[in-house]
Amino acid sequence: GPRSCRGEHNFKRMLNRELTQLSETSRSGNQVSEFISSTFLGNFPQLCVEEKKKRPMSQISGVKRPTHSPSLAPTAIPRFGVNATQEGLLAKELEDINRWGIDIFKVSEHSGNRPLTVTMYTVFQERDLLKSFKIPVDTFITFMMTLEDHYHADVAYHNNIHAADVVQSTHVLLSTPALEAVFSDLEILAALFASAIHDVDHPGVSNQFLINTNSELALMYNDASVLENHHLAVGFKLLQEDNCDIFQNLSKKQRHSLRKLVIDMVLATDMSKHMNLLADLKTMVETKKVTSLGVLLLDNYSDRIQVLQNMVHCADLSNPTKPLELYRQWTDRIMVEFFTQGDRERNKGMEISPMCDKHNASIEKTQVGFIDYIVHPLWETWADLVHPDAQEILDTLEDNREWYQSMIPRSPSPNPEGPEERGVTGEASGLCTGAPSTDKFQFELTLEEEEGESETESLPEEMRGNKESQASGTDSGRGLDARSAQPLPKTITADATRTFSAHCDKDVAAESGTDTRSDVRLDT
Ligand SMILES: [Zn+2]
Repeated sequence: GPRSCRGEHNFKRMLNRELTQLSETSRSGNQVSEFISSTFLGNFPQLCVEEKKKRPMSQISGVKRPTHSPSLAPTAIPRFGVNATQEGLLAKELEDINRWGIDIFKVSEHSGNRPLTVTMYTVFQERDLLKSFKIPVDTFITFMMTLEDHYHADVAYHNNIHAADVVQSTHVLLSTPALEAVFSDLEILAALFASAIHDVDHPGVSNQFLINTNSELALMYNDASVLENHHLAVGFKLLQEDNCDIFQNLSKKQRHSLRKLVIDMVLATDMSKHMNLLADLKTMVETKKVTSLGVLLLDNYSDRIQVLQNMVHCADLSNPTKPLELYRQWTDRIMVEFFTQGDRERNKGMEISPMCDKHNASIEKTQVGFIDYIVHPLWETWADLVHPDAQEILDTLEDNREWYQSMIPRSPSPNPEGPEERGVTGEASGLCTGAPSTDKFQFELTLEEEEGESETESLPEEMRGNKESQASGTDSGRGLDARSAQPLPKTITADATRTFSAHCDKDVAAESGTDTRSDVRLDT
């Protein structure tokens, strides 16, 4: 909204400056920087490569012929909605349905590749939503299987397992104590439905790839949130298939509200909207109101949808907050998807997108940069909003960041200024196992501003705290590191500053030649 424009602009400006510094440190630093910039800041490089036209846009593409019998008898519904190959094992995994860190890969395995259907079915039963909205169980299962079939099995990351993961993560976030009884059943229904459809028919390539190749989808949506618009169109279109209208017993008004909520949530999963969302969330945290019962007070649509959008966005960016063995599987999958896109770009003679070149990638550095610049700032702000509910999630994220940091391959060059960076194809024996890193891709938290620009000017209006926001209970100033405790203008909270002022201190690293590992997080 308009009130976030200045905040968004300033965040982008600050982050852009940090990323510029990062990009100057090394080739891989440059690549990580480009990836973050092009994915989350909406800074698109321009490229034009023709791809063959396939069909006119006479209809929503990607909707397949129905594959599921619409005459599924309600009495024939198995325990988890599908004929599970391993019902006992599946039941065991689904006992964790309310826990952060359920093994969604095992759910997939034991359900015969039906993780989305069984997860949604279990969550809807748990929340009694089938009864609340009079959803016929056979309709529900038919719709869910149809939806699940419209995720691409040959896409490594953006498939039905990711959709199930986002549904289950949203389900857990909806139950956070700070939001108890805050959202209506309709809003909960919308958040879960949005999570379920949010990547449907994803082709495994980015918005920018679709734009650069003049794809039918980019043409259809005029290059604006191309994929997200398509996921929504397909998700809603599938409701019109035989025995698929799970909202058939909602009132016209309910259907209308639900549709608006879902559209607002799925469009907010476009990663180029990240800074905008985060700026708004920070403003909300600074001014947060709590009821006498200790839960958040959200008394208008704008505040409610903002929390829901951020919740689904958090769920979508939750891989690094999960137990390490799950996080690593997600990382493997996203890299396969990126490299597949990179191969297509190479074959077409296009410039290869950041992080998509299998011959020149730094997976561990990417994850550390992704956490430092995107995931940690988001989750830290969410954790402030629902304080102290998300502390464990934040702890796991920080532990995982340390693990990836320790796994960054040591530079083969003894000279810390050396230009060589090893790609993933480099020899594995060079992995750094926790020893002091000589790597140049390092961060240190500072509270400095450059070039005589005062901090107050460079921060968004909303963050030039007033007395109310100082007293809003966000625990500002906790854990401020002594080394970085330079005088702060009284009007700025440490939380607001530290998130966006991590900068890459290559000079310190080069000069000292010692371990200057990240201090980006101030331990609390
Ligand atoms: Zn997603």
